[in-house]
Amino acid sequence: MAGNGLTQEINARWTRVRGVLRAEVGDSAYKSWLKPLGLVEFSGGVVRLSVPTRFMRDWIANHYGNRITELWRDGNSPVTEVEIFVLSDAEDARTQTPPKAPSEIAVSATVGARVSPDRVEGDVSAALDQRFKFDNFVVGKPNELAYAAARRVADAETATYNPLFLYGGVGLGKTHLMHAIAWHIREHQPGRKVVYLSAEKFMYYFIRALRFQDTMAFKERFRSVDVLMIDDVQFINGKESTQEEFFHTFNDLVDNNRQVVVSADKSPSDLEGMEERLRSRLGWGLVADIHATTYELRLGILQSKKDEIGAVVPDKVLEFLAHKITSSVRELEGALNRVAAHASLIGREITLETCQEVLHDLLRASDRRISIEEIQKRVAEHFNIRLADMHSARRSRAVARPRQVAMYLAKQLTSRSLPEIGRKFGGRDHTTVMHAVKKVEELRTSDTTFAEDVDLLRRMLEG
Ligand code: ADP
Ligand code: MG
Repeated sequence: MAGNGLTQEINARWTRVRGVLRAEVGDSAYKSWLKPLGLVEFSGGVVRLSVPTRFMRDWIANHYGNRITELWRDGNSPVTEVEIFVLSDAEDARTQTPPKAPSEIAVSATVGARVSPDRVEGDVSAALDQRFKFDNFVVGKPNELAYAAARRVADAETATYNPLFLYGGVGLGKTHLMHAIAWHIREHQPGRKVVYLSAEKFMYYFIRALRFQDTMAFKERFRSVDVLMIDDVQFINGKESTQEEFFHTFNDLVDNNRQVVVSADKSPSDLEGMEERLRSRLGWGLVADIHATTYELRLGILQSKKDEIGAVVPDKVLEFLAHKITSSVRELEGALNRVAAHASLIGREITLETCQEVLHDLLRASDRRISIEEIQKRVAEHFNIRLADMHSARRSRAVARPRQVAMYLAKQLTSRSLPEIGRKFGGRDHTTVMHAVKKVEELRTSDTTFAEDVDLLRRMLEG
């Protein structure tokens, strides 16, 4: 083992960390992923661990990063940060990693995470994910507004759109955008203090302050913050007095020109269990929603993700995944990771067949999830037409439009082919379905009410 500054203590810790990890993840995952980690160096509170490939580095950082960091920092530890970097053997080094500048990923790199355990109290910001930056956020129709707003807030030197309210379904990139704002500000305006935390954490601090009758200190703490980001505010509910206080704190911040960014899975007006006044207050700034992904966006994300993990995946497979995994970007990424992990373990190329094999449970689940009948029923209910009109030959706008929406959703949410969908709609031709999909896509961009309707239906069906 190379390395300066590797003390006995660090070595002993490393043995212990590995022991715990092994017990936690089981032998086979340990052998595949964690055993190859090498302890290389310890200096300035940073432990550096090596792995042989970029892919492994990302995988380990994604799946075990937080835990590894936690274990290293446990107890009275001199370790504040853990870095995993690629140390390839001579052959790989030529192709991917210049020896002097190993590509690095700090497992839980953040300003906040640098603090030792006893200071966590003082610093309320949660750790930021390295991967969640503007650079690797793929922009498409469904998220362009939210992206533009996030960028504007990140670039601004004072509060703009206050608050910025980002909302959208699970796994569509809200947290990614918030972290990206934080990273951007930390990089370009290091003097501004940015705090990012979940609504639950925020409420936790808040309720604790109430309990200890220390809300002044609580407010002070947040008042020193330039940009406050609270993720998943749908979890802020509960007693009126709590909400009342929250409301005042919130107003305080906005009045003092602090930028506030919040996210939720619903629009402000749909937030349940929240006082009307607070709901409406949250909608005062800019409300930007992230729509369900489109095929194009999914494909774009897969392409970028593929490059990121350095996996070789044929376009066919990417297209297949973009068609099949429509629920959330998180699931999409998960599917790609699984396929890539499988290929790298087995040492074989990724093909459509292996992909289907590896993901069979997931693909079946997404097929099972929504049927065309269910879509027709929901859409008919929503637009207040008869279910029979989904199959009928009537062409009046009042029934034709909902029928098109149902076809569109059938294409998006199921894995049925165009002819199959056509058959389910009273034996229509596949070109009719294609036309419907096009038409709905067009309308979605030109008519926001319509777009909201369609997204609402979609979420309902997916949920
Ligand atoms: P949410 O907070 O809305 O539930 P996240 O921000 O956690 O969703 O996103 C889920 C995953 O999908 C993350 O790994 C994120 O990086 C990824 N993701 C979502 N949208 C995009 C996008 N447009 N480009 C790249 N990655 C994305
Ligand atoms: Mg989130």
